[in-house]
Amino acid sequence: MSSPLYSEDELAGKLVWVIGMGRSGIAAARLLKELGADVLVTEKKRAEEVQPYVAQLDELEIDYETGGHRGGDGRMPDFAVVSPGVPTSAPILEWLVDHGRQVVSEVELASWFYYGTVIGVTGSNGKTTTVSWITHILREAGLYAVSTGNIGYPFCDMVLDHVKASHAVVEVSSYQLESILSFKPHVSLLTNLSPDHLERHGSMEAYARAKANIFKNQDEGDFAVLPSTNGLIAMVSTTIRPQKLYVRLDRCPDLGAGFEEGNLVMNIGAGREVLLSAGELPLPGLHNIANALMAAITCRLLMVPTEAIVRGLRSFPGVPHRLEKVKMNGRVWVNDSKSTNIDSLRVALESVDESEDVWLIAGGQDKGAPYGPLRELVGQKVRKLLLIGETAPMLMKAWGETVSAEVCGTLDKAVERADKEAPHGTTILLSPACASFDQFKNFEHRGEVFKQLIGAGVKV
Ligand code: ADP
Repeated sequence: MSSPLYSEDELAGKLVWVIGMGRSGIAAARLLKELGADVLVTEKKRAEEVQPYVAQLDELEIDYETGGHRGGDGRMPDFAVVSPGVPTSAPILEWLVDHGRQVVSEVELASWFYYGTVIGVTGSNGKTTTVSWITHILREAGLYAVSTGNIGYPFCDMVLDHVKASHAVVEVSSYQLESILSFKPHVSLLTNLSPDHLERHGSMEAYARAKANIFKNQDEGDFAVLPSTNGLIAMVSTTIRPQKLYVRLDRCPDLGAGFEEGNLVMNIGAGREVLLSAGELPLPGLHNIANALMAAITCRLLMVPTEAIVRGLRSFPGVPHRLEKVKMNGRVWVNDSKSTNIDSLRVALESVDESEDVWLIAGGQDKGAPYGPLRELVGQKVRKLLLIGETAPMLMKAWGETVSAEVCGTLDKAVERADKEAPHGTTILLSPACASFDQFKNFEHRGEVFKQLIGAGVKV
């Protein structure tokens, strides 16, 4: 088993390169500086393109270079921290590895200096919801838990701000998991695996292997929480060491949690416990039952009493931009801007009631996965399709024959069209199934613009 490359008192005076100037890069640089290391942040983009980060580094008095990785004053670093946006094939990384230097991710770095219990959550969809739900339940049980990682609060920042937290619930992307040495969650969760980020990983197998790195350093005293097996999950989980618990949507397995006759049930080996009925959950859809089961079983493994788990399942407020509903002008507007792949659109459509008339706003930047598999569901559930962004022609081709569809181009045009034409009682669902970067800064920006366009409304 690997141990941390450096302990807290070994970092002073070491030269560390942080490759990539983004949120997690800045957090890594901040933590390294705090621990006495010599830091150089190196960025390929020009200074104007990363201005806010340049300003932060100036303020923190941390060295940086922009417009290419020139290596500062030419000294070799002791090791390097790579930001998630930098592909593993980048020449600078190959060069460092050729020169015998370790390259680690920001999550790996943070884990060397955090001494509480780590819960790691990865998967294609449902990570943020599950991380937030776990933290909520742990807090409900009176524990000092913090959500961190890809959720928008880098683990390195958390280590600096909350080193005394008893539980770090870390959302980890496949990119962060590509550069793991000793990161070892006590409980690791794989929420699900569906096509996403194929543009970077190349194939489903490579993507699944990167995700499976979350189990790499776990041993027999640790736990892996997995969705009920399909081929890929079986492939990544057969050889892992931690004890495996499964989440199923058809019945409660002998070891794990499941949805059974309308109830959420779990069994961690000490007998079956019925938690609550699905109708008592605050979030819609079968996928949220899966998320709730994942959160419940994790907290039980962490010794949280069942009664606190049930309270936390019931009182979870949800996460913005994931199926957020607002009533306005006699219609229901649903902001699911975080839907950035076809699987998240699929679960959004599946969570819609048969009786609802749905106008779907979809489209954005392509991520490489095919749209064809959703043709039938879109045809069944959607009354009208309003297409936006770069992928509008691709979506028209994939789904246009099964539903009345039109290309609106931009989100404001789509909202205007729906506001003018959608009959009273319609559900207007923004669930783009695509990335947002063609027209927005990120999915939060896309969701905020949507909310501004539809006005205040009443939350439902
Ligand atoms: P992630 O952090 O993995 O992107 P989120 O919790 O932010 O996951 O949800 C992203 C999108 O996926 C949202 O549109 C949400 O409605 C949908 N979603 C949430 N949980 C699941 C799940 N278990 N399976 C599939 N889709 C999900």
